[in-house]
Amino acid sequence: MRQQSLARLEALIATPSPSGFEQPVAKLYREYVGEFADKVTTDVLGNVSAVINPQAPFRMMYAGHMDEIGFIVHYIDEEGFLFFNTIGGTDVATEIGQRVWVHGAERIAGVIGRKAIQTFKLSDSSQTPSLKDLWIDIGATSREDAEKVVKIGSPVTLNAGFTMLLGDRAMARAFDNKAGLFIGMEIVRRLKEDGGLHPDVGVYVLGTVQEEIGSRGAQTAAFNLAPHAALAVDMGVAMDYPLAKPEDQGQLDLGKGPGISQGPSTNPVVFDLLRAAADRRGIPYQLQAYGDKSPTDARLMQTNRGGAATGLLSVPLRYMHTPSEVLSIADVEATIDLVCAFCREVRPDTDFTP
Ligand SMILES: [Zn+2]
Repeated sequence: MRQQSLARLEALIATPSPSGFEQPVAKLYREYVGEFADKVTTDVLGNVSAVINPQAPFRMMYAGHMDEIGFIVHYIDEEGFLFFNTIGGTDVATEIGQRVWVHGAERIAGVIGRKAIQTFKLSDSSQTPSLKDLWIDIGATSREDAEKVVKIGSPVTLNAGFTMLLGDRAMARAFDNKAGLFIGMEIVRRLKEDGGLHPDVGVYVLGTVQEEIGSRGAQTAAFNLAPHAALAVDMGVAMDYPLAKPEDQGQLDLGKGPGISQGPSTNPVVFDLLRAAADRRGIPYQLQAYGDKSPTDARLMQTNRGGAATGLLSVPLRYMHTPSEVLSIADVEATIDLVCAFCREVRPDTDFTP
């Protein structure tokens, strides 16, 4: 991957964006796509849309959600400890002892505290703690001290940045779904620089908000746009680590390309087009099957208004919703290639009727 592009991904990771607090990442996204898109707009929920061919009669929507999981401060006690609840679904066991950033009047460092192991009863060590057993310590000595920099409602993110592992594997918090947003940024650049899009096909690359709490941004964005076709790019749970059982939910390996979803959540014509586009260009992919409604933005786009022909690509990700998610950079590149190829295949008269 180009060094410049990798730096963009790192910048997205470095910028906090818990659901409802996506504004700093939205600003970065707008700045980057503003160089290439024909038009960039932001709606009242905060969704950012970068459009190529805005006059085209056929509208295709890409959704890469901008938000990440996080926490929000809901109480500050007399000693200056912060109590919090979650934004999106987190595994409490992975949060204990983590360093965090509290985004108050300024960015404050903190740590998620729990009682010490030396004070455990036997039952404590066999139980996963719940959120109410945890607090955030910012070093404040009183409520008054804490309130100088933090308020009720301040969002919190994990202090866990981008690091390369061996080979092309990378580790960071919130690859879910800053990688999907980054893929959107690269698509806008590549479709503009390299061309190949049918002039009557408009591509709307959305950085959506609030996916982690129910795809609320995709819902309003899809309603406003009324796309004919749609594609969500999100992270998929990898099944290639110790004790993983592909028998439970199918195989998905790092380094073998994005998963292309099949099932009631996706349109069969979109699936066929994605697969044919990948085969023709030698882009690696994996097949995934899912029998329920999608837990991603695809769900809301598919059933928006009179419906949109919707596809879903999943970038394999290990340790999802933990401080250290792991993916393969080659999978990110393959996904960019595949979405660009798909967009170039679509014609204004493509019949997506199953
Ligand atoms: Zn996601």
